[in-house]
Amino acid sequence: DDLSDLIAAGIRDVPDFPKPGITFKDITPLLATPASLRAVVTAVADRYAGAGVDTVVGLEARGFILGAPVALELDAGFVPIRKAGKLPSRTLRESYDLEYGTATVEMHADAITPGSRVLIVDDVLATGGTSRAAVELVRKAGGTVVGLSVLMELASLQGRDQLSDVNVHALTVV
Ligand code: 5GP
Repeated sequence: DDLSDLIAAGIRDVPDFPKPGITFKDITPLLATPASLRAVVTAVADRYAGAGVDTVVGLEARGFILGAPVALELDAGFVPIRKAGKLPSRTLRESYDLEYGTATVEMHADAITPGSRVLIVDDVLATGGTSRAAVELVRKAGGTVVGLSVLMELASLQGRDQLSDVNVHALTVV
């Protein structure tokens, strides 16, 4: 359909980034094009309109770019989840395994009112580790995860397997 075409046109494959053998999906052309930027923000917001979303949580860094305009469309607030050490006030933390080593993400401990309904937004769902950690942080804070929305799901990496208890919505699956 039109949306899939816009997304396909706006995402370029960059070989050997960030390291040899990895092909990175670069969404910056999509962001730089008004029609596709608007189309993806509208598509995510439309999908969750009426779901009673109080807060959109965006994952550093491209989840910030997409999450804030989605929050405005849904009349929700925006809360960042960041890599460890970036947020200034008291945080909740969650670590997850990478291919080599671990990563830690944080959210302000008081960012989410217990009982609030939360939509998590990111650009790409790959192995699912980052999204899984975000779900755990939101639940630790007492929020209800209404959904996880991404522009693109890389199906071969099977991220959904870690997210069987979450409503996962991908605008495109490759
Ligand atoms: P995961 O934790 O699912 O393996 O990786 C997802 C996280 O890494 C997301 O925050 C996403 O922004 C980033 N990521 C992983 N691979 C890609 C990619 O090919 N393109 C983009 N734009 N982000 C990626």
